[in-house]
Amino acid sequence: MKGFWERLKARIIRFMQGRHGPDELSMYTMILAIILSLVFSFTGLSVLYIVFIALWVWCLFRMFSRQLEKRNAENRRFLEWMATVRRESKAFFLRLKNARVYKYFRCPGCKARMRLKRGSGEKDITCPRCGKTFHMKA
Ligand SMILES: [Zn+2]
Repeated sequence: MKGFWERLKARIIRFMQGRHGPDELSMYTMILAIILSLVFSFTGLSVLYIVFIALWVWCLFRMFSRQLEKRNAENRRFLEWMATVRRESKAFFLRLKNARVYKYFRCPGCKARMRLKRGSGEKDITCPRCGKTFHMKA
């Protein structure tokens, strides 16, 4: 029996040679597919089942793909997007937490985020990024 598993392992390794294999993007795709299948089992929405199958097919396609550069680029873009989502949501919750202490606003010139301590009255503000001067009350 040991010989069988050894041979199977060797065959899988040989099959996966030169192929992309699993990465972060495929891992998160699978997690999303599993969540969708759970929601599907509760709601019976057939659309979810179709999306579930499509995600699995896409996942397997990416794992067995031999176009390593394309797959690596996809994964890199995905990781960058995830980092942005994490950073933005962290900043969002920080603004929410400090909403009583600071007034948050954007520069009318370049849309840079700024804050002013509440109760500090009317102020002339010069944007440190674009240099635009404007009036703000907090
Ligand atoms: Zn600005």
